[in-house]
Parts: sequence; structure tokens; C-alpha cells
Amino acid sequence: MKVINSLKDIRSFIKNHKPNKKISLIPTMGNLHSGHVELIKSAPSSSVKIVSIYVNELQFNDRNDYLSYPRTLEDDLSVCEDNNVDLIFNPDHLVIGEHLDSNKYDLPKFTTYMCGAKRPGHFLGVYRIVKFLFEIFEPNYAYFGKKDFQQLLLIKYIANTYFPKLKIIDIDTVRNCNNVALSSRLSKISSGSFGKVKLIFQILQAMKKKLQSGLDYNFTRESSLIEFKNNNIPVEYLDLRSLDTLKELVKVNSKCGIFIACYIDNVRLIDNIEI
Ligand code: AMP
Repeated sequence: MKVINSLKDIRSFIKNHKPNKKISLIPTMGNLHSGHVELIKSAPSSSVKIVSIYVNELQFNDRNDYLSYPRTLEDDLSVCEDNNVDLIFNPDHLVIGEHLDSNKYDLPKFTTYMCGAKRPGHFLGVYRIVKFLFEIFEPNYAYFGKKDFQQLLLIKYIANTYFPKLKIIDIDTVRNCNNVALSSRLSKISSGSFGKVKLIFQILQAMKKKLQSGLDYNFTRESSLIEFKNNNIPVEYLDLRSLDTLKELVKVNSKCGIFIACYIDNVRLIDNIEI
């Protein structure tokens, strides 16, 4: 497994790789867990597997969140080694900065909802780094998790608009035995608060059942919000939305999901379930 930090070395790696081999790209911010591993394992072993590890400052609207983001490079390297990754791209901030597309961006409407509304600049930061990674690696496949569903739609939009030959593969959310969606941010939560973390999925799942049984959406949503409040879990958004457009819905349809962002121990967590 190679670890490369510079763009020059990346360019020569890409130039020299066997032309008949496909490239699979798995972009991450490191602190790898089983969710990331699922993405890595889903890439065909016949392809060149590239994992990028880069904590992208541009997508953090909160500087403290950026500074305290867990960085565990040594562990991440052994996770990648164990999972037959061929190349790690772990660039320095300065390597990336000057290469990002700063002018030409066209964020679709759906990036203004949910995380887009609450985290100014977040999706522009995602857009700029991901477009850059697709440009330098020219991957055939790129792997992203449905846990970050709004981001996944943006990635598909970028691929459709600029990289028509690139196939985006989406991977179901990996959860632990308590149905908690794995996230690097979980390491910032105290063990005493794990009971609260478990409630997120439980409440979403209960909402799903109620909606499927025909209960009124506004009533269901309100009672879930009360449950979060009673457990001292501040909720940033809790919405029923279309999986295609992310437009807010007031009734379930054949392609919709419930999306949440909330805070536990001041750590922002997101999750979603399809209905
Ligand atoms: P991150 O390192 O958090 O930026 O995530 C890198 C990639 O891993 C993104 O495509 C995420 O959606 C995906 N990912 C993160 N957590 C999970 C999870 N629990 N299950 C599946 N994919 C995940």
C-alpha cells in the first residue's frame, strides 16, 4: 500500500497505473470505522482501490468542530492495509488549497435544505473537494454512504454534470448492534450519553411505523420532537422528505425518508431512514 501526500506523485501514480485496471475512489475524512470499511470492501478487488483521507476545513462551518475532529492517521493506515487498499491520498492542506475550483460552482436547490440551511458553506466545501478529487483521480467508481444522504445527492449531481463516465455507488448506513449509525463524531460523545444516542434510531423507527400505519405526519413529528426534548436532545431538524428532490413532504409517498440532525453532548449527529 502506498501513501502519497503530493499531487505530483498522485499524477505519476495515475499515469503509470495499468490502463486496463479500473479505479475505485473512497473519499473520507479519516478516523475510519466499519462504515468506511464497508465502502472500501464494496469496491471490486480487481480495481485499484484509492482511499483519500483529508479533513476538509472548507466544509466545516464551526471552527471548533474542525479543530476537534478526530484525527487517527496511524490507525487508519492499518485499517486500509487490512482491507487491501492500494493507495492512500493524505494531502496537506496547502497541497489542496490552490487547486480548488473557487469560481464556477452551481449548487442545486436541494443543498439549501436541512444541513445546507444549518451549516452555511458546508456543501460548497464538499462540492469543491469532491470535484477536485474526481478531476485528479478520474475514477471509474466512487463510493459514498447513504448516512450522508444529502451529500450523496450532491455527489451524484456533480458526477452527472461533469463526470458522465463515473459511477457513484451508494452504500447503506452501517449501524452498530444498537442501531446507532456509525460516525467519526461518536468518539466525541461520553459513554454516559450513549443511551441518548440509541434513542435517535428508535424514535425514527417508531415514526416510520406510525406514518406507515396512516397516522398524521404533523402529529407524529410533534410527538417525536417532544420525546427528544424530554430526553434533553436538541433537534436541529426532523423532516419527512422526498428521496429524489429532498423537498419536504407532509405525507408518505413511495420514495421518502425521515431525516434528522440533533445534538448530544454538543456533538452534532445526523441520521436518516427510508420509508
Ligand atoms: P466521512 O469520513 O465522515 O466524511 O465519511 C466518508 C464516507 O463514508 C462518506 O461517503 C460517508 O457517507 C460514509 N460513511 C460515514 N459513516 C457511514 C456509515 N455509518 N455507514 C455507511 N457509510 C458511512
